Amino acid sequence: MSSPDSTVELTAEQFARLDANRRQVGALTSRLYQAKTRAKVAEQIVEDARALVATIPHGSPHDERLCLKCRMDKLLTPTKL
Ligand SMILES: [Zn+2]
Repeated sequence: MSSPDSTVELTAEQFARLDANRRQVGALTSRLYQAKTRAKVAEQIVEDARALVATIPHGSPHDERLCLKCRMDKLLTPTKL
């Protein structure tokens, strides 16, 4: 792999382009990682909120439009995109 035979010569322009591409990939990888982290945090918040809502009793007398539990359940249930 590192034998002298595998050496590749690049012009300054080609090297600059390669370097720019590498930086772009690096930036994209970093943004992807950040997005994944944010998605994980959001997922955890929803999970915790659902667990909390599960402990809340339904309103009495029950009216689905006014019941906090039903409204929170609806809010925290993913809708199809
Ligand atoms: Zn309810």
